[in-house]
Amino acid sequence: MSDNTHQAKKRFGQNFLVDDNIINRIIRAVSPKTGEHLVEIGPGLGALTEHLVNNDCQLDVVEIDRDLAEKLQQRYTNMPNFRLHLIDALKADFGAFAKPTQSLRVIGNLPYNISTPLLFHLLAYKPCIQDMHFMLQREVVDRLASPEGHKTYGRLSIMVQYHCHVEPLFVVPSTAFKPAPKVESAIVRLRPRHREVSVTDPVFFARVVNACFQQRRKTIRNGLKLILKELPANCVTNIDLGRRPETFSVDEFIDLANQLSASR
Ligand code: SAM
Repeated sequence: MSDNTHQAKKRFGQNFLVDDNIINRIIRAVSPKTGEHLVEIGPGLGALTEHLVNNDCQLDVVEIDRDLAEKLQQRYTNMPNFRLHLIDALKADFGAFAKPTQSLRVIGNLPYNISTPLLFHLLAYKPCIQDMHFMLQREVVDRLASPEGHKTYGRLSIMVQYHCHVEPLFVVPSTAFKPAPKVESAIVRLRPRHREVSVTDPVFFARVVNACFQQRRKTIRNGLKLILKELPANCVTNIDLGRRPETFSVDEFIDLANQLSASR
């Protein structure tokens, strides 16, 4: 929907996609199929929406900007498969969108200022999500996909990789947007996964990972000082706590958190 009358709002992270090649590449990556249930976060001026709404899919869109929501509602008022939610995606109940029999495919060129909290918000709805395709800052995609031992590996990598397979797809130059952002972007595909060994206490797992990465140069033992104080001495015997957190794989973090949790 080309629209020269809309003034992009910085506070809503509005950088609109204007490059048709990139738009088509994203749609090909998502590859919507007849009958699927799609959810687009931040449809904006409809660069992606236009391609998603015409696929005989149910399409729910979540937009915070009232001006844009009105334009979209007018535009798609005759499409029975289109449903607009004028709400903050961070507060949206995505579980309420899903039917018990069909999981959601989530898509979004996300506002960069809320991308990390939004990812965490969406992970809470993992059981009703089939996959997610997001445009994010390239640096965030690097962190999401980072293996252990890499300088970009940290809390975000572990928490997201615990829940999802992470597949970086392609880089998007800033010239693909209007207004152009200052940084490069990238498309990532996230597919919820089920691990053979899961964490016994998800809140405690998050606390352990968080504590370890407060100061990533410190050893795991140092990072966990406060948590270890609450536990019996030598409650973890088979893990070298003298290592640095960035050397621990996601499975090792699961093992560590589960052992600590069991001795509480
Ligand atoms: N999808 C469009 C495109 O690709 O051109 C717009 C992308 S723009 C980067 C981000 C969009 O998310 C804007 O439409 C903005 O108004 C919307 N947005 C920002 N914060 C939001 C929030 N908390 N909840 C829902 N939508 C939000």
